[in-house]
Amino acid sequence: MEKKQISFELTIFNSLDEMLPEDANLVMESKRAMANSYSPYSNFSVGAALLLESGKILLGSNQENASFPAGVCAERVPLFYAGANHPDEEIKAIAITASPREHHSKEPAAPCGICRQAISEYENKQKKPIRILMRGYSGPIYKCDSISDLLPLGFNSSFL
Ligand SMILES: [Zn+2]
Repeated sequence: MEKKQISFELTIFNSLDEMLPEDANLVMESKRAMANSYSPYSNFSVGAALLLESGKILLGSNQENASFPAGVCAERVPLFYAGANHPDEEIKAIAITASPREHHSKEPAAPCGICRQAISEYENKQKKPIRILMRGYSGPIYKCDSISDLLPLGFNSSFL
């Protein structure tokens, strides 16, 4: 028998001022994207901002549906848009701001399992890591340098 320890590094910034300007701006853009969240059922607003290699930023927000499974998380909106419209461009980073509308959270929310899998697919496709930045409505910002930190032992095409 063997036991293996898998660990990852999480960088925690106490304010945007501590971050690289490029990343701080992306976090602010993800907060801006929250404004278009369509979340009448959960009242949980999520905004995502995705940074492409060219510097272009794509925004997305969660889009819910009366038929719950038909909705989509904020992260996958710009991710799939990038895949559909900028297939050859590297994705550098994605920032996510998430908070209940009733009370402004200061706790970063990490992407759900499906979004981790979706981000992982693009990371594998481009063979370069995608930075993940997470924040509540305000408060500290969490940074991971790769989705593999949030999805250890992930499933990918090498298993097919
Ligand atoms: Zn998700």
